Amino acid sequence: MGLTRDFFIKLSENQTLNSAAKRYGLALGANKVVAGVDIPSTIKAIRVLNDKGITATVDNLGEFVFSKEEATKAKDEIIAMIEAINESGVKAHMSVKLTQIGLDVDESFCYDNIHEIVEKAQQCGNMHINLDTEDYKHTIQTFEILDRLKGEYKNVGTVIQAYLYRATEDIDKYQDVRLRLVKGAYKEPAEIAYQTKEDIDENYIKLIEQRLLNAKAFTSIATHDHNIINHVKQFIEQHHLDKNQMEFQMLYGFRTELQQQIANEGYHFCVYVPFGQDWYGYFMRRLAERPQNLQLVTKSIFTPAVNQKIAVGAGIAAVIGLAAAARKNR
Ligand SMILES: Cc1cc2nc3c(=O)[nH]c(=O)nc-3n(C[C@H](O)[C@H](O)[C@H](O)COP(=O)(O)OP(=O)(O)OC[C@H]3O[C@@H](n4cnc5c(N)ncnc54)[C@H](O)[C@@H]3O)c2cc1C
Repeated sequence: MGLTRDFFIKLSENQTLNSAAKRYGLALGANKVVAGVDIPSTIKAIRVLNDKGITATVDNLGEFVFSKEEATKAKDEIIAMIEAINESGVKAHMSVKLTQIGLDVDESFCYDNIHEIVEKAQQCGNMHINLDTEDYKHTIQTFEILDRLKGEYKNVGTVIQAYLYRATEDIDKYQDVRLRLVKGAYKEPAEIAYQTKEDIDENYIKLIEQRLLNAKAFTSIATHDHNIINHVKQFIEQHHLDKNQMEFQMLYGFRTELQQQIANEGYHFCVYVPFGQDWYGYFMRRLAERPQNLQLVTKSIFTPAVNQKIAVGAGIAAVIGLAAAARKNR
């Protein structure tokens, strides 16, 4: 399965396929995990979630930002979404990856961009801005930028990756900051991160307990892992913790029945809602993550318009071939 994973990671990193896919709207079944390509369709999708008692954290998809122009465009799109959330009254906040707004171009330019975003969000009903964490180098830079912002703003927080050895200290340091806790999505070396699923899961549980017992701010537990979720629920009951100080999070389109069940049980539930034309890389990474996610790929969306374009077609044809093979092998 390593080959399939590497294959989808390669597709996700292919700039030609990424830019070609942008022209076709959501193809391939990506509409199951990406809420929309524009603001109105995304607000509509958030309303559907809100009607089910679920809130949203919204991610403006964007890849390959190497210039100030691209970073400024992304920043403007994020601000437009903040305004749309505020004006429409849907229950949602934003998640932002700092690389998308210029972290690799110039750190102080990126700081100005995120400062503007957090300021705008504060004006729009004190909306929360979550700084997503990425690979280790960018995660450290993200923490440094958070340290500067948190003196001035309360509506900003970040993500702690349980695979990092340093996570325990970070949880302690950020007791009064709103945090999302995740297992961690990147490939990091053994010098800085746990490598096996068992070690990562064990540390994840330890960190969640540490956080829930000591936090002075809101906590999001972001996982699709029902064993972890059940453990957290039991822990909350045993320690008589306040359910209103935490929420569970999952990605849009994944385990939707479980999402609804948890929300119906009286827990706060928030869905990570990606939107935008830059859906291709995000979708390929979801396919890389779990072989079973190939079920998302839909043959019928293989439209003639897309098919005609060799560039996108090459990637799509390969994906559909793999999806068919995966179905056969199940
Ligand atoms: C809302 C959200 C925000 C995130 N933000 C970040 C971030 O900022 N930085 C970062 O590094 N990472 C982030 N991640 C990714 C995270 O770090 C993990 O890589 C990712 O969530 C996979 O781990 P998991 O805990 O969901 O469970 P896994 O370890 O992938 O799965 C554990 C078990 O759960 C079950 N399971 C998992 N998925 C499914 C499914 N779709 N259907 C049925 N059963 C399933 C299976 O039994 C599986 O064996 C985020 C994840 C979420 C959900």
